[in-house]
Amino acid sequence: MAKTEVDIIVEARYLLPMTDTEVISDAAMAVKDGLIVEVGKKEDILSRYEPKTLLGGNNRAVLPGFVNTHTHAAMVYFRGLADDLPLKQWLEEHIWPAESRMLSPEFCRDATELACLEMISSGVTLFNDMYFYEDASAEAIKKAGLRAVLGAGVLDFPTSIAQSTDEYIEKAEQFIKDWIGDELIMPSISPHAPYTCSPETYKKTIDISERYSIPVHTHLSETAWEVQEIKNRYGKTPIEHLESHGLLTERMIAAHVVWPTDREIEILAERGVSVSHCPESNLKLASGISPVYRMLKKGVHVSFGTDGAASNNDLDVLGEASLASKLQKAVAEDPTVLDAKTTLRMATCLGAEALGLSDITGTLEKGKSADFIVIDLDKPHLMPIYDIFSHIVYSARASDVCAVVVKGRVLMNDYEFKTLDKEEVFGKAKRWAMKIMEGQRV
Ligand SMILES: [Zn+2]
Repeated sequence: MAKTEVDIIVEARYLLPMTDTEVISDAAMAVKDGLIVEVGKKEDILSRYEPKTLLGGNNRAVLPGFVNTHTHAAMVYFRGLADDLPLKQWLEEHIWPAESRMLSPEFCRDATELACLEMISSGVTLFNDMYFYEDASAEAIKKAGLRAVLGAGVLDFPTSIAQSTDEYIEKAEQFIKDWIGDELIMPSISPHAPYTCSPETYKKTIDISERYSIPVHTHLSETAWEVQEIKNRYGKTPIEHLESHGLLTERMIAAHVVWPTDREIEILAERGVSVSHCPESNLKLASGISPVYRMLKKGVHVSFGTDGAASNNDLDVLGEASLASKLQKAVAEDPTVLDAKTTLRMATCLGAEALGLSDITGTLEKGKSADFIVIDLDKPHLMPIYDIFSHIVYSARASDVCAVVVKGRVLMNDYEFKTLDKEEVFGKAKRWAMKIMEGQRV
């Protein structure tokens, strides 16, 4: 019988579909026109399909790409610009002034290219962004070939982006109209935080999110300072404050949630709000440690975010997942919480679910988009292998990712970038850094 032609076959010693099927050993997956045609035993797949491109190999693990559910991609150009400071001082004295001097469509486009290069190299296939000039960032992401949810930021004070709340919202809505329906970019809307957006502003963004069936992405209950500030202004803690105005929805991705009360955890579960846990940013800015294990116990949907590279200082989701698992064990005084399988689900399929994209991506099964990564197991720190979930969460490093494919397009193979020119991206980063430094000295 003649073999069916497909675009890609990826071979794996272990294939983790992240569905009910736990692991397929000596596996392969066939891909055509950007979609997964079949997942199964290597022998079977190779006997029935003829690929144009063969990826993976005997000592490789294949799984869905990591999902970064909270970041500000273009902030990679501010990586390491100001460290070791409290959040408020860091934002008000360093990041916001640098942003007001530097931000432009060109800046965001070039910086997002670097962020994409970094995310590809660490196995991220989908990210949830909140920033400005998302149009320009979208261009860079399309070139890189990644999948992203992009939320135009909304604030209640004027910046170089907009003079009034209504202007931010008009711009955000225009961006949504321009990009809705794109095959890789999903627009969203991003009210920054309860201390920078009034309930009326939140209401407008929630209405837009409902109207276009898109996510709403915000920061929530990030620091003890925020909790006190919202109590002073509104007499309630941040989550109860939004709840009291009917502003919590299933479409909401709330980043951080470091300081929820027991009642607030129940509210998040009842409303179906997704939490993006960003442990490295929370640790570095000394914001605190989010009670993730308690939220999971109450049924809150939690995935991982890196936050921007200015507060992390990288975009490595696997690093966040591994750290989160160990931190929660210590905080809960229970080594069984956030076990390797749960943690890997949070870093992959649950991230896609939080963004409303689980029909398209997040698992490896027939009919889904071919969004996957290959991990090179041929490394001293990955020998021997008893449990592949344990290996990926506790032993592997983002730098072990050797191939990345999104929608059937190879973005990296054998550690080589296929869509972006590394030297060109680095050259732009160096030139922009010089301009940022000149501004710092003035
Ligand atoms: Zn953030």
